[in-house]
Formats: sequence, C-alpha cells, structure tokens
Amino acid sequence: MKDCLFCKIINGEIESEFLYEDDEIVAFNDINPTAPVHILIIPKDHIASADDINEENAHLIGKIFIVAKKLAKEMGLKDGYRIVNNCKGDGGQTVDHIHFHLIGGRQMLWPAG
Ligand code: AMP
Ligand code: ZN
Repeated sequence: MKDCLFCKIINGEIESEFLYEDDEIVAFNDINPTAPVHILIIPKDHIASADDINEENAHLIGKIFIVAKKLAKEMGLKDGYRIVNNCKGDGGQTVDHIHFHLIGGRQMLWPAG
C-alpha cells in the first residue's frame, strides 16, 4: 500500500535487515527498542490493524506467533518474552500496518512498561 511505512520496508523502498522472511511474513528490529530484544513481526499483506483480522487473513496471525516463538528461541529468551499488539488510536498504534512487537531480555512490568 502506497504511503505505508511497513509496506515500504517490505518492498525494499526503505532499507531494513530482515531477521526472518518467508512468502507471507517478515521480521526486523524496532528502530526504537524498549528492551534488549525488540523485534517487529508483520504480514506482507497490508492489514491495517487487529481490528481488520478476518476469516481470510487470520492464518497469518497464528503464523506470526510461530515466528515469534522461533525468534525468541534464536535470541535466547529462554525465561520468557512479551508479544504486544497495539490496536488503533486508543491502543497506541502509530503505524497502520498490523505488527506484533516481540520484546524480551529484561523483566517486563504489568500493567504497561
Ligand atoms: P506501534 O506504536 O505499536 O504502532 O509501533 C510502531 C513501532 O514501529 C514503534 O515501536 C517504532 O519504534 C517502530 N518503527 C517506526 N519506524 C520504524 C522503522 N523505520 N524501522 C523499524 N521500526 C520502526
Ligand atoms: Zn502496509
């Protein structure tokens, strides 16, 4: 999709190093990490937010969680990690292409942090 930051990363218009790529999913480091490991995992299809998940695209979300698990293992997050999705304005979403944050390498706090 034109003017979507993450679509531009997927199509190479904006340079990024992929930590994972297959025909449907890519993962890359967050530019502003909040923990020692902070990876964004996204579908190549432009899905705007979690509010746009439907019967046709839902398989991508399960796949993203499998990729998260693999990356967490590769990154040595044996004691756990957090997977976050911010959905739309009140959810704190700032890039309107669905993405899941894989965050780890420190103790997480709840709520927030
Ligand atoms: P969210 O606030 O959930 O929409 O998350 C958007 C994330 O995208 C933030 O954590 C940003 O740091 C990250 N981000 C923004 N621009 C880039 C970029 N060019 N490359 C990697 N991550 C980015
Ligand atoms: Zn997009």
